[in-house]
Amino acid sequence: MRSNRLLAALAIVLALAAVGAVCSLAGAQNEFQVRISARRVSDGGTEVALQTYEGGDHWSDRLLPTERFLSDDAEIGRWQYSSPMEVQTPAGEQWIRIAARRVAVRGTEVALQQMREDFGWEDRILPTQRFLSHSVEIGRWRFSSPLTVLPLPSFSLSLDTGKLPVGTGEGTPRGLITPSGVPVAVLGRTDNGYLVRTPCGNTAEVSHGQPVYGAQIVLDPGHGGWYDSGAVGPNGLVERELNLTLSRAIQEELTDRYISSVLTRTGPYGSLLSVRAALADDLGADAIISIHHNAPTGRRSSTPGTEVYVQSVSRSEPRADSARLGGLLHDEITAALSGFPNIRWGRHADAGVLRVLLPDGQDAYGMVRRPNVPAVLVEYGFLSNPSEAALFATDGYIRVAAKATADAIEAYLNTDRSGMGVVSRPRVFDPARAPSRCEEVVLE
Ligand SMILES: [Zn+2]
Repeated sequence: MRSNRLLAALAIVLALAAVGAVCSLAGAQNEFQVRISARRVSDGGTEVALQTYEGGDHWSDRLLPTERFLSDDAEIGRWQYSSPMEVQTPAGEQWIRIAARRVAVRGTEVALQQMREDFGWEDRILPTQRFLSHSVEIGRWRFSSPLTVLPLPSFSLSLDTGKLPVGTGEGTPRGLITPSGVPVAVLGRTDNGYLVRTPCGNTAEVSHGQPVYGAQIVLDPGHGGWYDSGAVGPNGLVERELNLTLSRAIQEELTDRYISSVLTRTGPYGSLLSVRAALADDLGADAIISIHHNAPTGRRSSTPGTEVYVQSVSRSEPRADSARLGGLLHDEITAALSGFPNIRWGRHADAGVLRVLLPDGQDAYGMVRRPNVPAVLVEYGFLSNPSEAALFATDGYIRVAAKATADAIEAYLNTDRSGMGVVSRPRVFDPARAPSRCEEVVLE
């Protein structure tokens, strides 16, 4: 009986509307409209995304949360949640996540939740059209009816937990996320805004942005700019993009744990090593972690060849805090990656927590040598190796690597644990000089 009613209901609303004709969305000044997109994916399961209303009949590109798939094996009736997404609204930024659950008779129901000031979640908001039948065409996006996101108190600006990247503070902030989303160090105030250091090491004036009063962790997605792609996998995966995707996922993991973080770059643009390193120092970070994927491939191995480069205080001695962070990262990352079956890994004989020195005894890599705060550089694996490159292209890899990295960071910040020790014999190596080329990106 009940299931008959449900069937009927599904038949009617099945229709997460196939065409996004939406009219009369006029609302109060600070109202903000979103809709949930959903589609069936080929391996069974449902993918969800969010779109924001841009006026007329325009909706934004789909925002894809890192965690956005609901498996067909999920328990019927139990809500599951996407990773949170930050969206800009006229009333400031809001955090939103998509709820989804399987309903009887081969369907998925979707809803929306907003994060409260205390990091809890408001009740689910149910769009009128919110059911996706599992018999619709695979790969084609359907949309919920529009929903209004109410301006909750703008939590990230009003909280002073010292844990979010954008805390409150007194006086001139140390950094700024510019209106175009570029993190920069603030050098001072001007009559019209802020004097900032650009990604290419110049100064510029920016009228406004999100002030950053400090960050616990700075994540550095290695490479950037069309002139510095980093390694390129045999599958076409570009290290510059992979490092950024992983860095963003790590940032989400850290935010979930109330650990504040800032990225040194937030797009494909380039930035000088000196500027990246100085950002960590200027923000007073507890550590900076440079994120990379290696090439060329080491020897074939049954275990991951993750390499973590740490800082030196002298030719013979590693820096203790950098070495402890490096050891924890190495332990967590290799343990997590080892869980992927059937990967033909590459590995150098001395892989582990390493120091790489120039012939004169200084740390060879700029992102290790330059920061004053504890710094490490992680090469997760070999992008040049076809088996690893195929893995690195998957969401599963990003999720697992991000969680492992955040686990290590959390242990570094909150415990005295140390991981694997530093390989006693440093490598001596003079890396190719980092590109000195840099092209400025639009700041606002
Ligand atoms: Zn690299």
